[in-house]
Amino acid sequence: MSHPTAPTGTASHLNNPYGHPLPSYLQADQLGPWGIYLQQVDRVIPYLGHLARWAETLKRPKRALIVDVPIQLDNGTVAHFEGYRVQHNTSRGPGKGGVRFHQDVRLSEVMALSAWMSIKNAAVNVPYGGAKGGIRVDPKTLSRGELERMTRRYTSEIGIIIGPTKDIPAPDVNTNEQIMAWMMDTYSMNEGATATGVVTGKPIDLGGSLGRREATGRGVYTVGVEAAHHIGLDVTHARVAVQGFGNVGGIAGKLFAQAGARVVAVQDHGGTIYRESGLDVPALLAHVALTGSVAGFAHAEVISQDAFWDVDCDILIPAALEQQITAANAGRIQARLVIEGANGPTTPQADDILQERGILVLPDVIANAGGVTVSYFEWVQDFSSFFWSEDEINARLVRIMKEAFAGVWQVAQDHKVSLRTATFIVACKRILHARELRGLYP
Ligand code: GLU
Repeated sequence: MSHPTAPTGTASHLNNPYGHPLPSYLQADQLGPWGIYLQQVDRVIPYLGHLARWAETLKRPKRALIVDVPIQLDNGTVAHFEGYRVQHNTSRGPGKGGVRFHQDVRLSEVMALSAWMSIKNAAVNVPYGGAKGGIRVDPKTLSRGELERMTRRYTSEIGIIIGPTKDIPAPDVNTNEQIMAWMMDTYSMNEGATATGVVTGKPIDLGGSLGRREATGRGVYTVGVEAAHHIGLDVTHARVAVQGFGNVGGIAGKLFAQAGARVVAVQDHGGTIYRESGLDVPALLAHVALTGSVAGFAHAEVISQDAFWDVDCDILIPAALEQQITAANAGRIQARLVIEGANGPTTPQADDILQERGILVLPDVIANAGGVTVSYFEWVQDFSSFFWSEDEINARLVRIMKEAFAGVWQVAQDHKVSLRTATFIVACKRILHARELRGLYP
């Protein structure tokens, strides 16, 4: 007989070893990103030793803010958007993570993205916690003026919890340098002083860093080459398929092509294109810059969206949104190596299928950490008002990424676990050790 007050349709007790009921917003939507994140944490708890005592910390965001964002549209009417900023953990430093504008953004998704930032920042050992923000909006429906007003009002609303030493936003899906400039200006006007360090991913003339725009794609390439080397895959002759050809997939594709690889398939929101002998990546990047998508690119064959998963390739780079590689398509993937440019592109079920099939998955929390690593460099440069050369930035990025990868690879070998579980082991230990040292207050 079920208890009359028991919440229906939830598995909250499964996520809580102490049996206390979780707040409703924390109950796992088992199929969504937050549910996936909780499963990833559960897999790691047996490896945490005495720090497992603190593991519950990882299952609850420290702070989540929901804001109403009203703006006047160009036609004179008032529209309201829902905005979020979640600070998942700040044990190791201020919150850090991007802001996305997308019609599907919701609180549980932002919670998961903020948690993955905590893991990612700890995995590459930059002194940050994890945070993420977003607005539930399709920015393509807004004029430039509306976009600016929405960005500014959102920034003003989350201004009570962000700041250069508290929580530092950055670009993510559908946000860019211009949006960061408006965010920096709005925060600064409210503070009465220019505070460049409040956001990263800014334009170079406003305290941005050289190399930041390319950093995520460069990181994907750098650790991708390391992983390929470990499984005897020669990148110079590899065939690569990329999903998402923006800031991450586009740059990673370019760097793989420059190394001699053939980019044979690219999929984005506009369509899917294929060319066995390899696409002309610089021409494709120019086409995307001009038209906004790969659709209509002349020198390629058009294939169906679903056929993308059957493409004969050696390396697959999902660099778009969450939950793209699922139990439904993981059995069809031909690649030997999957490099997660996106956050959360592979479901846990798909992860298991890929592992059983001997396909190596280089997880998001290390593969796409290059962006936040150069964000860290930008923040440091802003604080010291002393700016570094692009060569210096790229060299430091490569060093941090390679070191982080080597550490994670070793842990995966030692415990005979996937690279995702290994990265979570390294990161969760760092976060929870900081948690333990700080203790509870009051
Ligand atoms: N949005 C990026 C990410 O998911 C970068 C975050 C940052 O630079 O703070 O890693």
